[in-house]
Amino acid sequence: MRVVVAGAGLAGLSCAKYLSDAGHTPIVFEARDVLGGKVAAWKDEDGDWYETGLHIFFGAYPNMLQLFGELGIEERLQWKSHSMIFNQPEEPGTYSRFDFPDLPAPLNGVAAILGNNDMLSWPEKIAFGLGLVPAMLRGQEYVEECDKLSWTDWLRLHNIPERVNEEVFIAMSKALNFIGPDEISSTVLLTALNRFLQEKNGSKMAFLDGAPPERLCEPIVNHIQAHGGEVYLNRALKEIVLKDDGSVDGFRISKPDKQGSEMVQADAYVSALPVDPFKLLLPKQWKDLEIFQKLDGLRGVPVINIHLWFDRKMTDIDHLLFSRSKLLSVYADMSITCKEYADPDKSMLELVFAPAKDWIGRSDEDIIMATMEELKNLFPMHLTGENKASLRKYKVVKTPLSVYKAVPGCQDYRPSQSTPIPNFFLAGDYTMQRYLASMEGAVLSGKLCAAEVNLSHEKV
Ligand SMILES: Cc1cc2nc3c(=O)[nH]c(=O)nc-3n(C[C@H](O)[C@H](O)[C@H](O)COP(=O)(O)OP(=O)(O)OC[C@H]3O[C@@H](n4cnc5c(N)ncnc54)[C@H](O)[C@@H]3O)c2cc1C
Repeated sequence: MRVVVAGAGLAGLSCAKYLSDAGHTPIVFEARDVLGGKVAAWKDEDGDWYETGLHIFFGAYPNMLQLFGELGIEERLQWKSHSMIFNQPEEPGTYSRFDFPDLPAPLNGVAAILGNNDMLSWPEKIAFGLGLVPAMLRGQEYVEECDKLSWTDWLRLHNIPERVNEEVFIAMSKALNFIGPDEISSTVLLTALNRFLQEKNGSKMAFLDGAPPERLCEPIVNHIQAHGGEVYLNRALKEIVLKDDGSVDGFRISKPDKQGSEMVQADAYVSALPVDPFKLLLPKQWKDLEIFQKLDGLRGVPVINIHLWFDRKMTDIDHLLFSRSKLLSVYADMSITCKEYADPDKSMLELVFAPAKDWIGRSDEDIIMATMEELKNLFPMHLTGENKASLRKYKVVKTPLSVYKAVPGCQDYRPSQSTPIPNFFLAGDYTMQRYLASMEGAVLSGKLCAAEVNLSHEKV
């Protein structure tokens, strides 16, 4: 079966990969000149990479890890020590760690929490532990029910002191969805905590050893092509053209030189676009269908990814760090954490700036000035006093509509991969799968979508 897939982010590529494994012929059209969507990256004039986002892979990503295995590229994941490391704002330049010992889950998680005495008091740990019991006992069903509550409301419901937010969960909410705990659905935090506590290596983190388009997306494309599929860049879906019965007649795709467009026809059609551009392309005839109407409840959240190249080493920590600062979320010294970005003498800090709604429209210079001010608290040794480190260059990547904003109630708006249109399917992290807006969610959505396409073929 010939299947046209629009969008070469991880969801579109995963969908095409699993379609090709099932003996179908996927043809992928990507609007931009780079693979990967939200994992896209580019080289600057000096040959240094800069990325859409600082990306972390977790032990709790079974579909992603399986994909690496199937492609034979597992060694590209650089696993770090099993820890979570937080800056301590009240003691600038110092860190507090949750170290997970080599014990079965959930003992290793419990030991990590009990072993940290800087951030949570014993009564807070006990209240929080008791609050998590229903999530651990009832699993996903309970986690889904909690989608009606924000994380802060969930804490209040369980009489957990709100100081716990200040200490841990502002940082975790910003890391998971680029918003704070008053806004984020408690389903997001509970899903992550459940995976982290129930799987021994769930919270273990890995960095890719280089830029995602080359180190992850290209091997998927090679696999697709080796199985007879095709992948094209610079070719955007412009229109979903319908037959009289409302099913898809073809995708109108822009020509490579942007000189007009052409109709591409297939047996089945997949949108692997993010939800915001997909809504703009929805045919009028489909707008009354409930599945598409609900998409109005989903909208991308703004986020900014910052790269700072310094004239010296700022840290020797080979790990992701939770900044716990007002403007910044997580960060890492990529000159240590990522093989291809390695530099023995100078640091390249990659930092996620979130929440970004008040900053996304500001100039790069303003954003860098504010970031450097916050960094004085994270690196007082290098950025205050005499002999300060100097910033050699920077790059700011803004994504005004990134992953869908996971606010309370939005689980109900997420569509399935199959739709009421028999020859039209959806992939993308926003479609329904249990890993929310993440690389794992995108890969799983693509795999589920391929399975639905396959099923529709078997029914015929
Ligand atoms: C700053 C940042 C940090 C992140 N950190 C992490 C992390 O640490 N861990 C994690 O798991 N996840 C992280 N994520 C989330 C993760 O990147 C996404 O969930 C995932 O990559 C989304 O994949 P997708 O394929 O669903 O969508 P996308 O990657 O958005 O792919 C959609 C593709 O469709 C293309 N497209 C759009 N319009 C058209 C059109 N008309 N025709 C053809 N193509 C079109 C786009 O160009 C894009 O390539 C992060 C995201 C950001 C932005």
